[in-house]
Amino acid sequence: MDQAARIREKIDLVTLISEYIPLKKMGRNFKTNCPFHNEKSPSFVVSPERQIWHCFGCGKGGDCFTFLMEYENLEFIEALKTLGKRAGIEVELSATDKGISSQKERIYKINRQAAQFYHYILTKHAVGKRALEYLTKRKISEKVIETFQLGFAPSTSNSLSNYLMQKKGHKSQDLVDAGLSSLRNGRVMDFFFNRIMFPLFDHRDNIIGFSGRTLDESSTSSKYVNTRETLVYHKGDVFFGLNSAKDEIKKEQTAIIMEGEFDVISAFMEGVGNAIAVKGTSLTENQVQLISRFAQKILLCFDNDSAGFEAMKRSLKTIEKKGITPYVVVLQNGKDPDEAIKDNPALFKKSIHDHINAYDFLISKIISQSDKKTVEGKKKISDELFPLIGGIENEIVKEHYLKKLADELDTSLESITRQLEKNQKGETPIVQVQNNLAKRSKEEASEHYLLSIIVQSKDAKALYTEAEEILKGFTFTISSYDKLFKELGMYFTKNDNFEASEFVKRLPNELHPSFDACYLFPLPKFEDEKRIHEDVKKAAKTLKEIYVKEKIKKISDAIRLKEKETHKDKEVQLEKLKEEFSQLVSFLK
Ligand code: ZN
Repeated sequence: MDQAARIREKIDLVTLISEYIPLKKMGRNFKTNCPFHNEKSPSFVVSPERQIWHCFGCGKGGDCFTFLMEYENLEFIEALKTLGKRAGIEVELSATDKGISSQKERIYKINRQAAQFYHYILTKHAVGKRALEYLTKRKISEKVIETFQLGFAPSTSNSLSNYLMQKKGHKSQDLVDAGLSSLRNGRVMDFFFNRIMFPLFDHRDNIIGFSGRTLDESSTSSKYVNTRETLVYHKGDVFFGLNSAKDEIKKEQTAIIMEGEFDVISAFMEGVGNAIAVKGTSLTENQVQLISRFAQKILLCFDNDSAGFEAMKRSLKTIEKKGITPYVVVLQNGKDPDEAIKDNPALFKKSIHDHINAYDFLISKIISQSDKKTVEGKKKISDELFPLIGGIENEIVKEHYLKKLADELDTSLESITRQLEKNQKGETPIVQVQNNLAKRSKEEASEHYLLSIIVQSKDAKALYTEAEEILKGFTFTISSYDKLFKELGMYFTKNDNFEASEFVKRLPNELHPSFDACYLFPLPKFEDEKRIHEDVKKAAKTLKEIYVKEKIKKISDAIRLKEKETHKDKEVQLEKLKEEFSQLVSFLK
């Protein structure tokens, strides 16, 4: 047995998956909302018997390895190592395996050493003195500098690169791959210089990149510079502070989302440990996906200016799409959370405590900016609010806010709703993951349904035999289903009872996903055994009718063409086709 199989045998998939997402028992399987696409009713199914998972919404599925790879964005080797550790099995890697996994790990290691270098320069070296003074002036404590591993990139052109190559033995190309150095005319140059360095951790505590803040306020270069895209750093996938805030976020079930590093640090210093920074202009879908694993509730605490307000509005749609209710922390003073906290920490904590629903906040804020008594004011207010309220996923909540808006504007709910519909018609629809089942043709759905009933039944052989009798001589449209059906036939020549785990062993790998999808497909509850047999027959007959009709169409086309031909064999051939035709038609009666 190979090591993956040995590990798979020791891992309980239900336990593993429920550490990431809550699973609900439904019959003999477990169900939940799929973590890989947006949905409101659960189509993600886990089978404890077969140790597989499958999503009927987006079509993804597999075993413990594929789950971890999808969920944690890992390579197979990384998933193998993680689960090997969990199973207590030492994983031995071949040379090529090592090459793939070590590329990411090499970057993590280089980043870790770079963070240590920057941290040393800031805290111990004379070169870091100015930066340390700057942080002290901002009232950043030593504890914070340690917790967030803050550092300083000196203004020399290549001191980090030299350190990493000469003292740590790295190749220049690896430093370039990590985004820490660049090559200029054959010379290795540091990417960051004269900046306070904030290491960016992923939620698994790897340092994936850095954010550097300039010390030179008058400088023309940007205030903040981030690591460029690398194998491990993808802009828009990361929060500043998530690694240190993660536990507190889980405990509170709430994440407070801010804009900048210093906002998070100031909050942390005042004992608010569940704040993280978005590091961009608004929340991305990947960020919402990531944070929804730790928090049920999101509080937006952006800057107290128009840019912060716009960022908040943009973030709402993304949060809504994940089905999470967004809230807002309204700052009473200061231009950003950092300033508000320093100015009056108690008042800031009260604002967090008094957080309000984002739409209540938006309605009162937008109304306060126009005169709601004039026609122009009403139009301006509704134009600004409609796209936001229209994006609310929950219809009851949406109506609540439409009513509120109607009251505020002194108009009827009816005209508000009508106008909203008008506005939305002009909007381009949000691209969503298509429901694969909805897109299916009737025959594909029937083939899938038929196979699902058979492989999930205790009476599989009898059901197969009944279906086979009806469908004799026809092939399924979907080739994987056709192969599965034929495999079932062969299986039942030797076995009377259907054992899914035995049956799977004889299937080629490429048929596994189709089989899993049938095996886990949620079937309706049948009143009794009789109903199951009736449904199988009905599905088989439906399919036969479709196949026959298709064949009839083909043969009548062939007859039409044949009649135009002029050769001596024409009549005999025509006769044969017509015979076939009438035979098919008799099937339909
Ligand atoms: Zn899915």
